[in-house]
Amino acid sequence: MPKIFNLGEQHPKLKDVYMIYGDGLCSNIFVIGKEKATIIDTGVGNWMNPVWPQLTEIGIKPQNVDKVIITHAHHDHASGVFIILEKSKPKVYVHQRDTKYIASYLGDTLVKVEEGDIIQTELWPLEVIWTPGHTEGGMCLYVREEGILFSGDTVFPEGNFGNFSGESGSYRQLLNSIKKLSQFKVEIMLAGHGAPVYEDAENNIKMALVGIEMYA
Ligand SMILES: [Zn+2]
Repeated sequence: MPKIFNLGEQHPKLKDVYMIYGDGLCSNIFVIGKEKATIIDTGVGNWMNPVWPQLTEIGIKPQNVDKVIITHAHHDHASGVFIILEKSKPKVYVHQRDTKYIASYLGDTLVKVEEGDIIQTELWPLEVIWTPGHTEGGMCLYVREEGILFSGDTVFPEGNFGNFSGESGSYRQLLNSIKKLSQFKVEIMLAGHGAPVYEDAENNIKMALVGIEMYA
């Protein structure tokens, strides 16, 4: 079963933030807040990553799921949303350029977002940062005043970055997206795969920029 991490035990800015660590080819799932929880990415939703037992263990009941945000419409991040929707009625936020893959399955729960939109959570506002390259509608969620970045599959720990060879991937776009992120003040980075980075995450992003520039 996927492990659950109480991130507040690692950093005071992350009180009431939990991570369900993706098992196998599955994204991490982040849970923000308790009463009106926002969930960032949902995992692959297979038998190894069944979502609800973990949410229940954190203390999230179906009526507590207020919003789901999908950083990009790949299965390993998005398919778990359908398990959540079996019990719960959250709005599901997807960047408008990735909705073509998923809109028909989400119906009126779908909320299309774009660069600069603000998604309110119980803890802080999340700013939508459009970071295409891994997919056309890939996005990061940024807590500007706290320097927290949910980086999806754009940037990973240790200077790694998302692949750009997928169906709507683009080297040029991913390079520009990482360039854009490298201008941000980021202390904490919570990526779609891998472990959290709790300090100096902006150095991690600058390393990713050096790495991706070498492909040119
Ligand atoms: Zn992906």
